[in-house]
Amino acid sequence: MGFVKGLKCRECAREYPVDPIYVCEFCFGPLEVLYDIESIKKVMTRELIESRPHNLWRYRELLPIDRDPTSGLHSGYTPLVRADKLAKHLGMKELYIKDDTVTHPTLSFKDRVVAIALSKAREFGFDTVACASTGNLAHSVSAHGAAGGFNRFIFIPASLERSKIIASLAYEPNLIAVDGNYDDVNRLCSEVANKYNWAFVNINIRPFYAEGSKTQGYEIVEQLGWKAPDAVVVPCASGSLLTKIWKSFKEMKEIGLIDNLNTKVFSAQATGCSPIVKAIKDDVDVIKPVKPDTIAKSLAIGNPADGYYATKVIKETGGFGADVSDDEIISAIKLMAKTEGIFAETAGGVTLASAMKLIESGHIDRDAVTVLSITGNGLKTKEAIVGHTVEPHHIDPNMKSFEEILKKING
Ligand SMILES: *Cc1c(COP(=O)(O)O)cnc(C)c1O
Ligand SMILES: [Zn+2]
Repeated sequence: MGFVKGLKCRECAREYPVDPIYVCEFCFGPLEVLYDIESIKKVMTRELIESRPHNLWRYRELLPIDRDPTSGLHSGYTPLVRADKLAKHLGMKELYIKDDTVTHPTLSFKDRVVAIALSKAREFGFDTVACASTGNLAHSVSAHGAAGGFNRFIFIPASLERSKIIASLAYEPNLIAVDGNYDDVNRLCSEVANKYNWAFVNINIRPFYAEGSKTQGYEIVEQLGWKAPDAVVVPCASGSLLTKIWKSFKEMKEIGLIDNLNTKVFSAQATGCSPIVKAIKDDVDVIKPVKPDTIAKSLAIGNPADGYYATKVIKETGGFGADVSDDEIISAIKLMAKTEGIFAETAGGVTLASAMKLIESGHIDRDAVTVLSITGNGLKTKEAIVGHTVEPHHIDPNMKSFEEILKKING
């Protein structure tokens, strides 16, 4: 049995039963999962969590399922890497990379949200799962959906990176490539979701799906030795991950798993699609939609569903935001690879490059224990760095040729 009491409107607080619904009938506010925190407090201890397998279900009391999970049994519990070489480069004392480039099985943090979405879709009795994706969600729903024996309808912007399209196609879903950007895809999917009785993981299953992002936050705290960091830098597309990392820290404080919470939450976006960071910089509450133009396609949501809530978290915690150019993204991808041996996708470049700006501007203190949320693997967006890497040294298959090159390399 789970600890979910129901769904609750984030705006008017009206409550709803647990159903595949996502929007308040009265005020059109988004619905959120409501837990019985008092009961969770009685059972959920550090010891209980530590006794469980190393996957994201070790925090299951705080995840919205009622029966045993059926998806994502090997996802999550990714490494928290102490990044001393990168820290030295940036003049930081204690810097960590939360390395979701290695989340099982599709190498991005979307395996977290999909684990919960598909477990819940199974509980609701759906046989078809679907999503509107900027790339990584397509890959993850294709894979987890195949493993779960679901029919899969995957909607993407046709202009996605070829690597990401191929990665999804390997699992043979019904892939629908839409001539339009993500916001067009999302609009179409809302219509489709109204007509067909499918589990659209980020539409009618969204309240449950979004809770999966909290597991990244729980892990950061557990892996820091049951402490929340001073600063966390989060890449934003819809803004959901950022709000959920903050929610996870707050829940841990409420339940008594941590004693103190003083984390500042920072948003990272590409300049070519930075509606959330712009609202923060302009100090306004209203998110102005933009037309995305950036190599960070996984973050290219011009009209972010959780943008308003993300700005609220950033302000509430004393954080800030930074946006970075395509060139800065590419340099940061290479810097992380060169210093820490971690090859991130474009979103990872956005996070590191933004963090560098926030450190430089003094928004992040050089003494602050800082975590970078690195959300996807570089093999997924190889296109972005083609032509920007060093080249191989070409030689003939003999020792003389090799040693000539060696002299040049060392010279
Ligand atoms: C989806 C995604 C994000 C953030 O998504 P939100 O919609 O803001 O939760 C970050 N990084 C990568 C690689 C993603 O695919
Ligand atoms: Zn409402």
